[in-house]
Amino acid sequence: MFLNEVESKKMLKAAGIAVADTQLATSEEEAIALSKKVGFPVVLKIVSPDVVHKSDAGGVKVGLKTSAQVSKAYQEIISSVNQKCPGAHILGIAVQHMAPSGTEIIIGMTRDSQFGATLMFGLGGIFVELLKDVSFRVTPVSPKDAADMIREIKGYKMLTGFRGQPPVDIPALENMLVKVSQFIEANPQIKELDLNPVFAYTQGATAVDARINIDEKPPVAKTAVNYQTLGKINSLFYPESVAVAGASNNPTSRGYDFMQHLINFGYKGKIYPINLKSPEVMGIKAYPTLDSIPGNVDHVIYCIGLENMPAFLDSCVKKGVKTIHAFSARGAETGRSDAKELEASIQKKVKEYGIRLLGPNCMGVYCPESGFSFCADFPTDKGSVGAIIQSGGSSTDITRYGALRGLRFSKLLSYGNAIDITEMDLLKYMCDDPETKVIIAFIEGLRGNGRDFLDLVRQTTAKKPFIVCKGGLSTAGARATMSHTASLAGSSMVWNTAIRQAGGIPVRDIDDLINVATAFNFIPPIKGKRLGTGGSGGGRNTVSVDEWETNGFEIVPLPQSIREEFKKRGAMLWDCLDNPADRSITVPGDAFTVPALLLEMAKDPNYDFICANIAADDHPYNRETFVEWIASNVEGYIKLHKESPKPFFTIFSERPLGTPEMDHWFWRECAKLRTRLNDEKVPVFPSVDKAAEAIKELIWYYKYKGSLKT
Ligand code: ADP
Ligand code: MG
Repeated sequence: MFLNEVESKKMLKAAGIAVADTQLATSEEEAIALSKKVGFPVVLKIVSPDVVHKSDAGGVKVGLKTSAQVSKAYQEIISSVNQKCPGAHILGIAVQHMAPSGTEIIIGMTRDSQFGATLMFGLGGIFVELLKDVSFRVTPVSPKDAADMIREIKGYKMLTGFRGQPPVDIPALENMLVKVSQFIEANPQIKELDLNPVFAYTQGATAVDARINIDEKPPVAKTAVNYQTLGKINSLFYPESVAVAGASNNPTSRGYDFMQHLINFGYKGKIYPINLKSPEVMGIKAYPTLDSIPGNVDHVIYCIGLENMPAFLDSCVKKGVKTIHAFSARGAETGRSDAKELEASIQKKVKEYGIRLLGPNCMGVYCPESGFSFCADFPTDKGSVGAIIQSGGSSTDITRYGALRGLRFSKLLSYGNAIDITEMDLLKYMCDDPETKVIIAFIEGLRGNGRDFLDLVRQTTAKKPFIVCKGGLSTAGARATMSHTASLAGSSMVWNTAIRQAGGIPVRDIDDLINVATAFNFIPPIKGKRLGTGGSGGGRNTVSVDEWETNGFEIVPLPQSIREEFKKRGAMLWDCLDNPADRSITVPGDAFTVPALLLEMAKDPNYDFICANIAADDHPYNRETFVEWIASNVEGYIKLHKESPKPFFTIFSERPLGTPEMDHWFWRECAKLRTRLNDEKVPVFPSVDKAAEAIKELIWYYKYKGSLKT
C-alpha cells in the first residue's frame, strides 16, 4: 500500500527527517488559501493512490506566484490526470512552498530478498535515471557507512563544488542517511521508500518529494541460527572410519571411484565398503548392510539411490554415524514434487537424528590432509585455501585452475542441494579451522538467512579473508517495481555491497576467485600503492605502466641514490636505470640485472611492493640461449622473492595452447618455469590487469581489517 506524498512526509517529519512541508487541498479555494499561508511561489501536485509518478501524469506544477496561477494550475492538474490516468481516484492537491533549487539527490530504501532493508544514495535527475550512479548499504547505516556511500558515487565531485557550483552540505546528507536508516529499522512495515528528489544546499538538505510503500504483511523476525552441532561436521574431514554405500568393483560406478580415491589418496582410517552382493571391494572386506559392519562408522559416502536414504538413515542413527556425504542426485533439483518430498523427509530425519548431511547432489569433500578426494588427479599435498563450493563442476574447475596458480587446499567441498549442511555451517567451520588461512566460496543460493550470513561473514573476515562469487545475480535483478531504488538495486549491486560491508570480497567469476585467492594465499599485506616494476623490454614495460596507473597504482621514479649504487657497483648503463627496469639494456656480466635493481627498490622506502614481468615470450633467442637466459632470469626472481623485504610477485602471461604448441620446446620451457615459480611459492599472475585487481583487494582487505582495531 502506497502512502501518498502528504502522508509519507508526515511520517518522515515525525522521525526528524527534513521534508518540504506539504498540505492537502480538496478544493481550488483551499489550494489558494494554503498557498497564501505557505507563501508564494508554491508547487501544486496531484495526490492520488493511482498516480505513482506524478510528473508523468501532468500532476506537478512548480513556480506558481499568484492566486490566479494556482487556480489555473489546479484545474490543469485535474484535467491532465483525468486524461492520462482515467478513473484515478483523486484525493486532492498537495500544496507546498517552492523550495529554492538545490543539487538534486535521491535517497531510497528497498528490501532485498536476501539481506532485507538496503539504503541507496545517488545524484538525482538524469544521473540516477540514465547513469545509475548510486551506492548501497544494508541497514543499519552507521555515520561512517553514510560518509562512504556519499563518497563512493562517481559524481561525488559534483557535491564538493565542481566548476564553480557551490559545494553542498555533506554532513547534512550523511545525517539524513543515518536518520532514514534509523527510521527504517524502527518501521519494519515499510517495504520501499523514495526521497526523490532531496534538494541539497550549501547549508542543509530537504526532501521535496517522498513516497513510502507499506507492506501489509511485515517481514517475520529472523530465526536464530543454531551453531551448536557444528563440531560434528569435523568428521566430514577427519573421520576415523568411512563406509561407502554403493562401493563397487565396477570401474564405471561412482562407488568404485570413491573407494579408489580413499585408497589412492592415502586415507588412514578404516574403510568399510557396503555392497549387497560382493564379499570384497578392491581387496577390502565388504558388508551387505551398514548394520553388519563390526566397528564404529563415523562417516558415510552415500552413492546409491536417494529413494533408499530414509531407511538407510535409520540404520545410521543406530550405528552412531556422525556425517553423511550424499553424492546421489535426482532430488529437489529435478523440480519433481515427489523428489522434493523425498528430500524433505531426508531433511526431517537427519535433523531429528542429529546426523549432519552434506548434499545431496554434490561431489563431496577434498581434504588432502586426511586423504579424502572426489577426483583422481587432484594434488595430494595440502595447502591453506578453504573452498566452499555449491556446484560440483565448479569445485573441479577451482581445484584444477587453482593448482595451476600454485594454490593448494586445506579443505574443499561441493555441497549441492544443502538440505542440512549449508554455507553457514561450512563458513563457520572454515572460519575456526586453523588449517585454513584464506576462504573462497562459490554460492548459487543462500540457504540461510541473508542477515545471519552477513554476521558470520563479519566474524570471519575479522580473522581471515573471505572471497566469494555468487551465481545467478543477473536474473534476480530484473524486477519491475514502483521505486527507483528497487529497480536500481539489481541484486548484484546489493550483494556486492552487503558482502563488502561485512569485510568480504565479492568477485565476478571463478577466474577471479582464483586470482584474488592467489594474492591472499601468497602475498603478505601490502600497505600502499607505490610499486617498483620491470622485467620486459621498452614497449611492454610502457604498456604495463599504463595498466598499473589506470588501476590507481603509482610507478615511483627511481631515486638517484639507487643509480649511484649501481654506478658504484660498476654497472655500465647506471645512468639509464629507471622504474620500470628495462631488461633490454642488460649487458652480459654487468652489475645491473633486473632482479638486482628490483631488490634495491624493495629496500627503498619509496616503494610498497615489487612486481616483475617475466616476459618469457618476448625474445629472439634460439633454444639454448633462451633456456640459459630465461632460467637465469627466473632464478634471479626466485632469489629476489627470498630476499625482498617488501611483497614481491611476478607476471607470466598465459595463452591458450593448441596441441602443436604443447609439444613445442618453447612452450614446454615456459610451462617448466611457471612450475618452478609455483614450487618456490613465488606468486604468478597472468597479466598486469589481473595482478592489479587482486592487489587492490589485498590492500582493501588489510585496510578494512586494520580499521576494526581502531
Ligand atoms: P514525481 O517524482 O512524482 O514526478 P515530484 O514531487 O518529485 O514528482 O516533483 C517533480 C519535480 O518537481 C521534482 O523533481 C522537483 O524538481 C520539483 N519539485 C517538486 N516539489 C518541489 C518543491 N517543493 N520545491 C521545488 N521544487 C519541487
Ligand atoms: Mg519525485
